[in-house]
This record gives sequence, structure tokens and C-alpha cells, in this order.
Amino acid sequence: MAREYKVLIGGEWCEAVKGERMEVTNPANGKPFASVPKCGPEDVDKAVDAALTAGPDWAGKPMAERSKALLRLSQLIRDNLQELAELETMEQGSPLRKTLGMDIPQCAEHFEYFAGVARGMTGETLPVGPWCASMTVHEPLGVVGLITPWNFPALMVVWKMGAAVVTGNTCVVKPPSIAPLTALRIGDLAMKAGIPAGVVNVITGPGSTVGEAIVRHPDVAKIGFTGDSITGKRIMSLASETLKPVGLELGGKNPFIVLADADIDSAVEGAVWGAFFNSGQVCAAASRFYIHESLYDAFAKKFVAAAKTVRVGDPTKMETVMGPLAYREHRDKVEWYIAEAKKSGAKLLLGGNRPDTPETRDGYFVAPTVFGDCSNDMTFMRDEMFGPVVGLARFATIDEAVALANDTRFGLSGSVWTKDVRAGLVIAGRIKAGTVWVNEHLCISCETPWGGCKESGWGKDASTMALEEYTLTKHIYVDLIGQPDRPWYGLLK
Ligand code: NDP
Repeated sequence: MAREYKVLIGGEWCEAVKGERMEVTNPANGKPFASVPKCGPEDVDKAVDAALTAGPDWAGKPMAERSKALLRLSQLIRDNLQELAELETMEQGSPLRKTLGMDIPQCAEHFEYFAGVARGMTGETLPVGPWCASMTVHEPLGVVGLITPWNFPALMVVWKMGAAVVTGNTCVVKPPSIAPLTALRIGDLAMKAGIPAGVVNVITGPGSTVGEAIVRHPDVAKIGFTGDSITGKRIMSLASETLKPVGLELGGKNPFIVLADADIDSAVEGAVWGAFFNSGQVCAAASRFYIHESLYDAFAKKFVAAAKTVRVGDPTKMETVMGPLAYREHRDKVEWYIAEAKKSGAKLLLGGNRPDTPETRDGYFVAPTVFGDCSNDMTFMRDEMFGPVVGLARFATIDEAVALANDTRFGLSGSVWTKDVRAGLVIAGRIKAGTVWVNEHLCISCETPWGGCKESGWGKDASTMALEEYTLTKHIYVDLIGQPDRPWYGLLK
């Protein structure tokens, strides 16, 4: 029987005010297995009120106390690792070896990191004059709205919630409708960790109603959003009504550049990882491959051979490397792009189909897919597809490779593969993106800032920069001796 979840508002587990519910489906078999409240704007009002009420007390606690609460939460994530990993695999389709080995441990890791670095947060003293104290302090913003995507349903909540809560904000989390369960469980564990009622509220429901109501709410001080660029634009325009700041971590179409001197075997390893990790449902996935013409054929052959070995199947089996796409309409969208690539003249080198095995038959699977002879004017080389589908293209000169890499409306990440580290560094400087890796792809950790430019958005998650995203830097000036001769007073005499 499908399990019925409730939402977390002010420390209470609640149904939606209107009593509606929505189903959560396992993408590996197409079967609904849970349901959550389908909230509306009236539930958003309740959640914001709860967060407002909890705000002053939480903001007034010493940083050490908030930090220790986050450490307790981190420990609870570790204690419940297996259950959280299985839940994420069920709701999103990610293989258990990934949710168990990476995603959920990363959640604990990020909470620990934020708990630690927050205690080192300092302001500055400013050299304004001899008889005054002039300083900056970082204050919480108030109630923040955290709207998260389905590709890493737990970690995306943690990225934002960890930074926001430790710095003294209270939050209303709106997880994705297709994968909302790990967010609810993290809210539950936050309560068990002793984080006071109302500091973390988690409500479920459609982005078009619940998400928009959070963005428009006059008492929400900031929006932290990860998701599609089109949604990001909508959120930015809605946020302008109340002039609230928004952090936007949006889509990507990330170049993978292989120079003539690259170690081809290591580039192929990196390519398989960068392209097919999480079935390509990664904002930073390698999707546009630019390969020097001298090794294009050799690279394509080895890459296709390696991609063939990616084990696709039941995500609950530990040997499975690639699971299904997260929901049916998304699988249909990826297949539309595959058809489009074929029409535009790209040469299908691998995949392009649904794998047909007893394990995959009922789920939303797409086989690892590689197209050759691609160019930047093909639609599938321009749009973010968010699936296990990549295009290979040739280049002759480094200037051409850089121009091709930058010929995109996105600016999230990219990588360069070369034995000449100096060349790699120079090219990294020429690529317009928030992150560039040299001889690596998809290396993301709590210490490194994450976020892009152009239509990939702005603002940073992770790293110490994330803490600043959720604080107001306030300048405070104190006159120390009551000087009678302040020069600016004289200007009005
Ligand atoms: P969406 O933009 O569709 O959804 C993200 C969240 O926004 C969901 O909770 C969704 O709710 C909500 N939402 C949808 N419409 C609105 C609206 N009008 N107002 C407010 N909230 C809304 O993205 P996906 O979930 O499809 O996530 C995939 C995208 O996320 C990809 O483009 C990917 O590149 C990007 N991404 C970016 C990352 C980065 O760091 N730059 C990291 C990870 C992903 P609901 O589910 O109910 O529709």
C-alpha cells in the first residue's frame, strides 16, 4: 500500500489545508508507492508564519549552538544512511550504490562542513578614523524560501538548508513534486536533532502554485533556487515584485575539451563519468565534446567501447551503475532530442534506444547514447537535455575549441584534458563558466563554490561563500568619544 506522508509546518505533521494529495512514482518500474499533501498558497502562509515565529529565537542563539545542532543532524543522517539512500533511490531512480555511497554521505558531510566553517565566520573592522569603531557583522536574513530540484533530491536541500539554518535563518523548503520524500525525512531528522519547531518547514506541492506563493510572499526575505533556467527566469521576475534577492543555480550545457596531447585513456574514463553519472541528469554533466581532430577517431572508438560497459538496470542492485530517468515525461523529452539529433545529421555511434531487459522494461530507461560528427548548430548541442546523451565534434586549433565551448547561453562548468597543465590553465581562464576542471570532470565538494554565469544563474552554493549568500553584511559605526569637530557637521552650519 502506498505510504501517506505529511508536511512539516511549525514542528507539526500536517495535511494540506484543502486536503488534496499527489502521488510519488518509482521511475524504475512506473508504480506509485507514496503520496504527499498537495499544498497550496494557504499552506505557504502557514509555513511562513511558523518560520517567522521561530525566527527571533533561532537568530538570537550563539553560533556555537546552531552549529552543534547541525552536527547532531549530520550524525542522524549517517545513522539513517541506508533508509535515506533507499528512499532516494525509490523516488528518483538513482542507483543505490550512488545514493548509499555518495549522495547521502555527502549530505552528512555538507552539514558537518557548514557547522564547522560557520563558527569561523567573522566580520571586519574598518579603518575609518581613530575615535570610532567601524565594523561589519553578518546577520541572518529572516525567512528564506528554498526551492529544490529532483536530480539530487536530498543533497540540494542540504546545500541550501545547511548554509541558511546555521547562519540563523529559518526556512520553508519546497522539494520537487516527483521526489519530495528525502526532503521530508531530512525535516524530520532536523526536529530529532533538536532544531526548534518552525526553523525548518517542508511543504510539498506544485511549483506553479506553492513555489510561486513562496517567491511572492512579502515575508520571505530571499529565495535559494536550483532548477531549470526557464523556471529561474520566472522566479526572478516574480521576486522583483518584492525586490527580494534570489540565488539561482540553473542549467548547463558543459563542454569537455580534449587537446591533442591528452592522455586518451584517462580522458575516456572522465568522459564516461562526466556524461553518464546520474543518467546524465546533472547540471554539470559533460554533454558537448570537442576533440582535437588528430585523436577524434581514437577517442570516439574508446569512448563508445567504454560507454557500452555501463551497467544499466534495477537501481536497487548494487552492481547497477545507471538507473532510469526520473519520470516519464522527462524520458520522452530526452527521446525527442535523440530523434532531433538523428534528423540534424549527427551520426549515432551508440544507444539511442530504451534498453529492453526484464529489469528495465517498465521503467523510464534510456541507454547511454553517443552521437558523432556533431556541430553547435544542432538543437541537441545547444539545449540542456539532462539525459545520458552526448555529442562529439572535432576542432583544429585551441582558439576554435575555446570559441566552440563558449558558444552557448549557459556558463556553469567545463573541462579541459591535456598533459600540458599550463595550456589547461590558460584555457580554463578563457572559458566563461563558474567552474573549469583540468583533467577532471564533476569534481564537486563542500569546500568548493558552486554556481555559474549567463543563463546558468548566479550566486554560490557550498563553500564559505554559501554562508554569505544567506546573511546581510551590516556596517555598524560607533562614535567613541563624541568629538565636537566632526568635519561633515560643519558643512551644514
Ligand atoms: P524545475 O525548474 O522544473 O524545478 C525545480 C523546482 O522548482 C521544483 O521544486 C519545482 O517544483 C519548482 N518550480 C517549478 N516551477 C516553479 C515556479 N513557477 N515557481 C517556483 N518554483 C517552481 O527543475 P527540475 O526539477 O526539472 O531540475 C532540473 C534542473 O535543475 C536542470 O535544468 C538542472 O540543470 C538544474 N540544476 C542546476 C544545478 C546547479 O547547481 N546549477 C544543480 C542541479 C540541477 P515542481 O517539482 O512541483 O514542479
